[in-house]
Amino acid sequence: MTDVSDLSERRSKQKSRIRQMLNTVRAEERLKLKGGEDAVAWVKEELCIGCDQCTIVCDDDAIELFATPLASPILNIDVNRKARVLREPCTGCKLCVLACPTDAIIMIER
Ligand code: SF4
Ligand code: SF4
Repeated sequence: MTDVSDLSERRSKQKSRIRQMLNTVRAEERLKLKGGEDAVAWVKEELCIGCDQCTIVCDDDAIELFATPLASPILNIDVNRKARVLREPCTGCKLCVLACPTDAIIMIER
């Protein structure tokens, strides 16, 4: 019969297997993206939800959030936030692209 410690061990194995698979997928995705000194990140504002993930991973302080009116007929909130990339400090490292949960960031030619 399965007990709690069995379950815990199986869960831990599954967790590590899933993490490995995700890391592999992310590494493959990252290789496919344009990057480096000839590239710069670009935020598609319509997809950005202002979640701050990109600014957390950007080591070069190349992303800032700015306030923008929230275009929603159902929420009574004055402003929302959107991210924008500062071209000069951006090193084209691609980390923000991988961190964005809504695929709002793309890499473009500098
Ligand atoms: S590509 Fe790298 S340096 Fe440029 S904005 Fe994204 S995380 Fe920052
Ligand atoms: S991670 Fe994506 S959705 Fe979140 S603030 Fe940055 S660009 Fe916007």
